[in-house]
Amino acid sequence: MSRYTTPPIHDILKNYFGYDQFRPLQEEIITHILSGRDAVVLMPTGGGKSLCYQLPALAMDGVTIVISPLIALMKDQVDNLKLDGVAAEYINSTLPFPEILRIQDAARNQQLKILYVAPERLALPGFQAFLQDLKVSLIAIDEAHCISEWGHDFRPDYRNLANLRQEFPQVPVVALTATATPFVRDDIIAQLKLTDPKIFQSSFNRENLFYHIWPKKNAFQSLVNFLSQYKNQPTIIYCFSRKDTELVASKLCAQGFPAVAYHAGLEDQIRSEVQDKFIRDEVSIIVATIAFGMGIDKPDIRLIVHYDLPKSVEGYYQETGRAGRDGLPSGCLLFYSWGDKIKQDFFIDQIVDEQEKAKAQGKLARIVEFCQSQKCRRKFLLEYFGEQWDKPNCGRCDICITPLEEFDATEIVQNILKTIALTGGRFGAGHLVDVLRGAETEKIFERRHDRLAVYGVAKDFSTRELRRIIDLLLDRNLIVKTPGEYPTLIMSKSGQQLMTTNEKINLPKPPPMSVAKDAGKSTGKMVQDLKYDQVLFEKLRALRKKIADEKNVPPFMVFPDRSLFEMAFYFPQDTRGMGRIFGVGDKKLREFGQIFVEEIADYLKTARPPRPAPSQPLAASGRKQEPSQKNVSTYDETQKLIDQKLTLSEIARQRNLAVGTILSHLEKIVQDGYGINRLEFLRPAEPKFSKIRSAFEIYGTGKLSPVKEFLGVEFSYDDIRLARIFLVEQHGEEI
Ligand code: ADP
Ligand code: ZN
Repeated sequence: MSRYTTPPIHDILKNYFGYDQFRPLQEEIITHILSGRDAVVLMPTGGGKSLCYQLPALAMDGVTIVISPLIALMKDQVDNLKLDGVAAEYINSTLPFPEILRIQDAARNQQLKILYVAPERLALPGFQAFLQDLKVSLIAIDEAHCISEWGHDFRPDYRNLANLRQEFPQVPVVALTATATPFVRDDIIAQLKLTDPKIFQSSFNRENLFYHIWPKKNAFQSLVNFLSQYKNQPTIIYCFSRKDTELVASKLCAQGFPAVAYHAGLEDQIRSEVQDKFIRDEVSIIVATIAFGMGIDKPDIRLIVHYDLPKSVEGYYQETGRAGRDGLPSGCLLFYSWGDKIKQDFFIDQIVDEQEKAKAQGKLARIVEFCQSQKCRRKFLLEYFGEQWDKPNCGRCDICITPLEEFDATEIVQNILKTIALTGGRFGAGHLVDVLRGAETEKIFERRHDRLAVYGVAKDFSTRELRRIIDLLLDRNLIVKTPGEYPTLIMSKSGQQLMTTNEKINLPKPPPMSVAKDAGKSTGKMVQDLKYDQVLFEKLRALRKKIADEKNVPPFMVFPDRSLFEMAFYFPQDTRGMGRIFGVGDKKLREFGQIFVEEIADYLKTARPPRPAPSQPLAASGRKQEPSQKNVSTYDETQKLIDQKLTLSEIARQRNLAVGTILSHLEKIVQDGYGINRLEFLRPAEPKFSKIRSAFEIYGTGKLSPVKEFLGVEFSYDDIRLARIFLVEQHGEEI
């Protein structure tokens, strides 16, 4: 292999894919593959698995064979690669025979770098021989869990892959999957007969997803409030039944949210039309049964709503995982009610196979536990999948963003421990809470728990509050859960000790339960943090859509959202600057660079002047000719008005700029280490300022949105930004 003649992998990353950095593990995996060894890659959806074989394909001599079960997605993947300038093709049953012959010829003539193949092909006589004729550089097996009967998605065709390893002894094999169970992983290695493969397992934390679980009260109104923050952004709402999908869709339409229903009862043609429109950004909200989303590859879905309870934690994780594959902040909202649980129970009761039934019940119990739990959603999910998560606050779930005020919990904790002791450690949280609250359940009367001294002592606490306290005690290891299908709560050693010493204990107060207020709050999306020009963004979006339609591809393939955000932030005014934007590789730069540069130039002619020069790394070389004097004078101008003791909004009005733009000026000045004279004239009023300051103390000054979440609707982004400027000035913290 003449590897040394190919450019370093970082160059390939930028020139073909337009990215500056690898995502976690990508570089290690690629280097390992390039050294000619086998690998197993376990990464969550959106982790960036494809790049792990697409990039080596470009760095090696010969053609990379990719086995993929999702025929519908092959065309998309190949179209996408072609737009990046990669010689890629696919062979599956949807192609006419002459086309297959043409592609096979191209492969034989070494004109292809990547060839996607459906697994059933491998069983066809002649196909193996065709492969043997090629100079194969790498074999990638996507969705590798399909080979395992232990997985949820077993495909008999994948058995055809079993001998691939032996037939190409010199070629490295990489198996990739988003399924992390050790069973499936070991099965993949065994079935594929991989040679001493290195296993790359990344965290299954989806950092950019924000998890919300809300009680299902006034759910529709809450949904509408929530959706208004995601206007025109790709959203999937999952419902339990076909009927519900249609009902919710039509109610949303009536409220001015154009939504379309999707379920298995629709004709094939309509279904594929709906799907197509969603991918092409022509409808933004799909209300669907869970079938929707599996076969689509849309990286910019911004919101996933579960209007009804999912069947399992696995299902929830997988469905929410469809959001934000491009790494941009995205939301997940689940509405939970006990009624939904009963509904699912009913369906589970119909299962005939006893073993299957028990399995389904177990899964349902865990998702209910997830919804009722008052601990960090992220922590619960990761621990469910066997991963450790030690951060006290994830900052991106409804539990973690609620303020932590402490209260003296000594009495209630003692009562909980006593209840466990008095009932012999033989009950779960539900029953203990019932006893503490003095509920009149059959179970209580049967066991005579109404005669216990602790019966009804915690009437003042809600069920939810008690559950939260129990969760906190579990977290602190004062009580523990017994293993098994029906776990009960027992006291740990330290719990017993606490009970005898009666030592004082403080716990965080449970968050208030105001659904409507919560619904109005920001949702953890950070799009506001990228202080891009929204008008320009919309223009670029329209241009992208036009080009995409002409080329007959989905808009995200022309440029992902993040590219447009960056363009609307940095205003690249020549192709050199454009080349530094995220997602702009050589081919796309040649093809679309000039058109987008012109659109931006056009906008600048008619609209306000460009914002201050961007900070690193784009500023360095991307916009060399930027007239820096202009920026200096624009700052001077702002400074002059501060000197005159004008308020922020007065300054903005005088300068005919948005308040946000003035704030960006100030941020930039402070960031560059220049002082602002007489800044104290703009000092935000008390007590607002102190509140904002405490929020920054909790979350750091790096990001605005957690602070905004924390403070709620009374505080605007402008307030928060201004306060941050003061903090940075005073404490030298970084923005
Ligand atoms: P997976 O197959 O693991 O679900 P994909 O390979 O489809 O993930 O990648 C998800 C998204 O992330 C795609 O839009 C892809 O272009 C993008 N992506 C992959 N690697 C990088 C990277 N290094 N930098 C930025 N974006 C990336
Ligand atoms: Zn959390």
